[in-house]
Amino acid sequence: MDIKLQQVAYAYAQGTPFEKRALFDVNLAITSGTYQAIIGHTGSGKSTVLQHFNALLRPTAGQVVLGSRVIEAGKKQKNLKEVRQKVGIVFQFPEHQLFEETVLKDIMFGPMNFGVSAEQAEKRARELITLVGLPDSVLEKSPFDLSGGQMRRVAIAGVLAMQPDVIVLDEPTAGLDPRGQREIMDMFYALHKERGLTTILVTHSMEDAARYADEIAIMHEGRCVLSGTPTALFSDVERLRQYRLEVPRLVAFQHKIEQLIGQKFPELSLTEEQ
Ligand code: ADP
Repeated sequence: MDIKLQQVAYAYAQGTPFEKRALFDVNLAITSGTYQAIIGHTGSGKSTVLQHFNALLRPTAGQVVLGSRVIEAGKKQKNLKEVRQKVGIVFQFPEHQLFEETVLKDIMFGPMNFGVSAEQAEKRARELITLVGLPDSVLEKSPFDLSGGQMRRVAIAGVLAMQPDVIVLDEPTAGLDPRGQREIMDMFYALHKERGLTTILVTHSMEDAARYADEIAIMHEGRCVLSGTPTALFSDVERLRQYRLEVPRLVAFQHKIEQLIGQKFPELSLTEEQ
């Protein structure tokens, strides 16, 4: 499913004395099957953009195209359920949204709410628990008896159980230890590669963006100021610095570095290792 933001503006509490303009004329096109990163400092508008991807927020100007749906400013929208199923959002600290008695019930909750049979929902849960790297035995446990990292995986399985076409990840590794962070990011990358799942990663980590994304969009003060492949973006170091962004450590994008070494970054050292 292709996603397009066309001249999107968004103001919180529009028309009130508390009005706060968060987005100005944002244009962004995400082609189906792409791994897109959205990066920017706190307050740059990333979360506000993210909530347009499944119409949790609707633009106050411009339009958002979600597959065949066009969400236009000022127009009432009916039946957004389909959009919500197609675009799964893993919010920050998604484990805070776990609530069922058992892990199994928690993962089954979303699909069953969308009319999937209990049998099918359970089948999905059993497949997904393995995919997110947990043993089957956790399915019968209370989510609240698990570790933080395990709870995060259960919450992710719950989003995947909806079988979305697009998955949006909002700082999905916040608060995890470095190993857990890497495992989760690698899992999403494998999903993207193996199933062609369109993936949108919202992050402040240049390293993750460089390591995983095909395309990076940079948000700054409510605008999408730069976008392109990691190679293209990192070839203009001065431009990035203009937005207080640093080029990531070389080790973070080793797999993409071959074509850059010696051409674009002669000043970078290859000895920097983690
Ligand atoms: P980011 O995700 O990049 O940190 P946000 O999208 O959260 O940025 O915020 C963009 C701007 O909108 C910021 O100035 C922020 O203070 C403001 N903002 C975010 N949420 C709200 C809200 N619910 N009400 C009013 N202003 C908000």
